[in-house]
Amino acid sequence: MKKIGILTSGGDCSGMNAAIRAAVRTAIRMNIEVVGFRKGYLGLMKGDAIPLDTKAVSGILHRGGTFLQSARSPEFKTPEGQRTALNNLKALGVEGMVVMGGDGSLTGALALNRLGLPVVGIPASIDNDIPFTDMALGVDTALNNIIYAVDCIKDTASSHARAFVIEVMGRHSGYLASISAIATGAEYALVPEREYDLAEICQQLRARYEEGRDNAIIILAEGAGHGHEIANSIKDAIGFETRVTVLGHYQRGGAPTVFDRLLASRLGKKSVELLVTGTWGVMVGLSCNAILATPLEDVIKGEKRPQDEVLRLAEVLGV
Ligand code: ADP
Repeated sequence: MKKIGILTSGGDCSGMNAAIRAAVRTAIRMNIEVVGFRKGYLGLMKGDAIPLDTKAVSGILHRGGTFLQSARSPEFKTPEGQRTALNNLKALGVEGMVVMGGDGSLTGALALNRLGLPVVGIPASIDNDIPFTDMALGVDTALNNIIYAVDCIKDTASSHARAFVIEVMGRHSGYLASISAIATGAEYALVPEREYDLAEICQQLRARYEEGRDNAIIILAEGAGHGHEIANSIKDAIGFETRVTVLGHYQRGGAPTVFDRLLASRLGKKSVELLVTGTWGVMVGLSCNAILATPLEDVIKGEKRPQDEVLRLAEVLGV
């Protein structure tokens, strides 16, 4: 291979820049040219490519987000969109692609691979809902962002005898909610994977309140309910002053943690090595501290990570 491309797609996360840098520098060491496509599959369909050399990826390791930018592109899901992308790659002389993103982006990568393009995927999603990797890129940074915010809120919750419902990201995945509940000592983690009984939660909070424990933190995954409704129920049931904080996009950004920088560097390097040596149609992932490749087909149809153990832990250590 003489020339490869890289793109970041779907939801951005911290560590993407570090992975781009690692992929580019690994390729250059192997005398392979690299281009970056801007705004994910949108850039691929427009042929919006920029040359990436060692200098182009200097000074980005510690920055969150993705300097190549990301986007969602429904058009790429169509056969016409994918054909346009392949034609652009051919015209630019790009022989293989590293695609970084969540399960949607990896599904797109598989589609390109099925059409004959050598592709390697890198899992990047703060939800940690991608099978065959212990951690996806960006998860650790998002968790650290969350626990910093929750620790701050706990200080004020205890000063004012208040309950806080803190909404974190996770429409379909309660990973951020359950892990951050464990790491901050929150009373409850409410997640989309498991039903909860709000009346029972109110009753337990009331009992705690009567024991003199007059503040509480409830971490709510966004897909598990509406923060204000839950807060109102708590307030109505026990008269406990209750506030809602939605952490929102704050969770996605910021300098990547050491864990994410290292993971990004390992995944970026390995993705290029596999691409160049002919292991295509795979995703690189972390498994028992080794970087392993799994066929994208298995990743896409793989089961989501079970949450039972962490949810149980959050439950036992909570209220
Ligand atoms: P994420 O990668 O974070 O899960 P999305 O699900 O929004 O984010 O997917 C990002 C992009 O990947 C989509 O905008 C689309 O261009 C592409 N994509 C998603 N699903 C498919 C699919 N089934 N086939 C081809 N491309 C897809």
